[in-house]
Parts: sequence; C-alpha cells; structure tokens
Amino acid sequence: MLLFTPGPTPVPEHVRIAMAQKTIHHRTPEFTEIFKDTRERLLNLFGTEECVILASTGTGAMESTVINLCQKKALVINAGKFGGRFAKIARAYNIPVTELCYEWDTPADVDEVIEAIKSDEDIDALFIQICESAGGLRHPVEEIAKEAKKIRDITIVADGITAVGVEPIDVSDIDALIAGSQKALMLPPGLAMVGLSAKAVEKIGNGRGYYFNLASEISKQRTGTTAYTAATTLIIGLGEILKTIEKAGLDNLYRVTAKRAEATREALRAIGLKIYPKTPANAMTAIIDENSEDIRKILKTEFGVNIAGGQDHLKGKIFRINHMGLIEHYEAAWVVNSIELALERIGRRVYDGTANAVFNKIYFG
Ligand SMILES: *Cc1c(COP(=O)(O)O)cnc(C)c1O
Repeated sequence: MLLFTPGPTPVPEHVRIAMAQKTIHHRTPEFTEIFKDTRERLLNLFGTEECVILASTGTGAMESTVINLCQKKALVINAGKFGGRFAKIARAYNIPVTELCYEWDTPADVDEVIEAIKSDEDIDALFIQICESAGGLRHPVEEIAKEAKKIRDITIVADGITAVGVEPIDVSDIDALIAGSQKALMLPPGLAMVGLSAKAVEKIGNGRGYYFNLASEISKQRTGTTAYTAATTLIIGLGEILKTIEKAGLDNLYRVTAKRAEATREALRAIGLKIYPKTPANAMTAIIDENSEDIRKILKTEFGVNIAGGQDHLKGKIFRINHMGLIEHYEAAWVVNSIELALERIGRRVYDGTANAVFNKIYFG
C-alpha cells in the first residue's frame, strides 16, 4: 500500500535501519556527538539562530510556543483544525486570545490581521500555520509577519509542520518556526522541533511551564543534551534524514516537491476535479468532491493507495494527497492515474490516461 497521507509519511529504508541499532544511553559522549551534529543540521534547515528538539508530537511544540512566547494576549489565525488548536491551547492556560476565523479554503487576509493587531495593544504574539493542513491551504505568513513587525515588536509563531522541508521559508520576520517528525521530515511520529530567533530566546527568558519550558531546553541543548531523557532513536533518525536531504540539496528537494505538487494539481484539474483551497500549499493537494469517500475507498481496495479524507465539517467532502518528503515520481504518477481509474469506476468519465499524460508532461517537461 502506498502511503500518500499528509502525515504520517513513509520513512526511508536507510533511516529505519539507522533507528534499528542498539539503544545508546542519552548521557554519553557518543550521543552528545550525534545530538550536536543533528542540531547543527536542524539550524541549517530552519535558518534560525536557535532551535530546540522536543520529545512530543507537533502539538507539544505548539503548546511550548504558546506558553513561552505569549505574555499578554494571543492573536490566532484559524482557517482549520490546526489554527483552532493554537486557540484551544491558549484557553487551556487561561491566556487571553483573539481568533480570526476563515473558512477552511480561505487564506488569512493581510489587512484584516494587521487591523486586528493595530486595534488591540495587548496582542503580543501571533500564531499562524504556514500550511493549514486541514484544507491544504497556504497562508501569506511572510507578508503578514513583515507588516506586523512594522506596527510593533510582536512575536510571530509560524506552525511549519507541513511547510519546513517542503518549501524555502523566509524567516527574517518569524520568531518561532515549528516542525514535526511525521510530516515533511519523513520520520515516525513523536519528535517536534522549534526554530527560534534571537529575539524569541530573549523573550522566553526563564521560560514557563515545566516539561515544555523552552528556557530549560535551550540551555541544555546548547551543551549537546536535552533537559529530560532524549528521544535517542528518533533523534538518530532525524540526523539521518537531514543528512539525506542535505546530500540531495535542500533547493533540489523544494524544487522537486513544487513540481510534483503542480503536476498533481494540473493532472487532477484536467480530469475535471476541483482544488479545494484558494491558495494551495505544495505540501498536499486537497480536492473537494462529493464522491471523495468512494474515490478513497477504490484507491485503497483496488489500487493500493492510501490518501486522507477531510476532518470535522469537511469529512466525506474532500480528499488530500501528500507531496511531502522524498517521493518517487512513478508513485506520484500512479496516484493520479488511480484517481482517473476510480472516476471511471464510479461512472464519471471514460478512462483515457489524461491524468498521467498531464502529470508527466509537467513533471518531465
Ligand atoms: C499534523 C499537524 C499538527 C499537529 O501535529 P501532531 O503531531 O499531530 O501533534 C499541527 N499543525 C499542522 C499544520 C499539522 O499538519
């Protein structure tokens, strides 16, 4: 079965093998060496001054940024399940929060966000997804961050869980950039990372919370270890995957991912399907279709392809195809071909290979 869900994504074989070695103790020179090397590579991927690696899923990293980087009031952009999660975290800690809500296919409006910041002096941190995975939507994060910083020194937290490793991200105005293991980084779930600006480190000060106190992690991780038991196996995996990405070249990964995303979108448009978000991200393609569940089922049972459906009010209404990670072009081509075959099965069109022809023309053209 081809795993084409926008997280978890398949783990490359050599990374699985690296993680299958004997467990080593986390307080040893041997592990410290691995940790320091991985941390350097991660800083290079983020393009930030500082970073921390946390043993948690992405949500834990989101929680760490809310409690450590918002001191007065949070402004949350909610255009989907993950945006909404930032607001839920803030409420769980009794942190005042203003939510700007959008339909799940609609990116945040730069002027509206800026207006919200201008009209409330208490807002000291903005939380936004780069790609909102609920609808495969790309928010104009860099533009919002740039304009927001012109108003006052507000902290910008960008959830890049489905963006870091997918596309180059300009971090000039971003203070915290979140990544997770099981999406673009092709690892098993359980590890989260946050890239931090020097300003963010300053604002964190002594930190807040206990397990997710970023100050304790920063000071430990600078010395080559973690505050609590390190997720050694996953960190070894992270080091391996970062080496692989670097070897092929980061720019190359971004270029191929963008091409695969574009080829998939155009192939599916060519067979009459509709892209759901107004501004599609390259991490995944989301299609809005009344036969979404039938298509997913046929893909799974007849063509060996596992794609994701929608969540909450989009359950049964959309399907989502992953583009994150190192994906063989013949697998991606097979996915669009299977969708065309599925449309024939449900009597929507006569199969003529259009999806594959369009995909290949764009991918190899
Ligand atoms: C998957 C995802 C998360 C949540 O990550 P978990 O690892 O499930 O906690 C947060 N934000 C985005 C954009 C995601 O895609």
